[in-house]
Amino acid sequence: MAVAIVTGASRGIGAAIARELAARGNDVIVNCAGSLEKAGIVAEECRAKGVQAQAMAWDVSDFAACQAAVKEIKDKFGVPTILVNNAGITADGLLMRMKEDQFDKVLRVNLKGTFNMMQVCSALMVRAKTGRIVNLSSVAGVMGNAGQVNYSASKAGVIGMTKSAAKELGARGITVNAIAPGFIATDMTDALPEGVREKAEKQIALGRFGRPEEIAALAGFLASDAASYITGQVIVADGGLG
Ligand code: NAP
Repeated sequence: MAVAIVTGASRGIGAAIARELAARGNDVIVNCAGSLEKAGIVAEECRAKGVQAQAMAWDVSDFAACQAAVKEIKDKFGVPTILVNNAGITADGLLMRMKEDQFDKVLRVNLKGTFNMMQVCSALMVRAKTGRIVNLSSVAGVMGNAGQVNYSASKAGVIGMTKSAAKELGARGITVNAIAPGFIATDMTDALPEGVREKAEKQIALGRFGRPEEIAALAGFLASDAASYITGQVIVADGGLG
């Protein structure tokens, strides 16, 4: 099977995607920013499924760090032909009060981080003549969300990059798709104030937040041979929000 890189896989959706890709027989690189111990546990869970897995910390917003990490991965495990750009952060605030740095740092990790990893990995995928790139967007990037102009801009940007990259890379046998989750129960949504959470649940047709595994199942499919004729798409998985 393939060598897969999942960014931001120490917890939440990324950890579930790492486990799903391992269950499908892929070797998995479990990336994180700093929580290497947690990423190590996820890598251990992946290895228990009979594949190779390694936890590695690097900052996806640092282009040189992405280059160095991918070179190390290629030398040790082979060319990564599955890339899941899942690492993401929030720094919420209303437009009129948002600090410049709040805007910049969210764009740097969510948008530039996705660009960095796509650029470094696609060069290798082109030579391998195969590849699957799955980018984590968000419903906030599709329909907007008050208090998240930075986050929704980054996630709308991910959609634009996904569609453009799909057009550039399709002839090389590489598919590029995005997943736009709604509210999923992770550390990111645990930070929501109580009132906001209850209001959100009322707007979801299924009446509950999603589970990381429900996003991972979709990512696993998009990264598989079964999804060979799907590219440039944004698949919303939001339990019927709004
Ligand atoms: P999470 O629980 O907050 O986990 C974030 C992950 O990203 C962690 O593994 C973290 O590593 C990593 N990370 C953060 N900054 C990084 C950086 N600069 N370089 C490398 N890794 C970095 O997030 P989540 O809720 O699972 O969300 C995963 C993705 O889905 C994100 O892109 C998010 O925007 C998107 N999404 C989530 C929801 C939701 O409701 N949860 C909805 C829509 C979209 P450390 O542990 O080392 O900090």
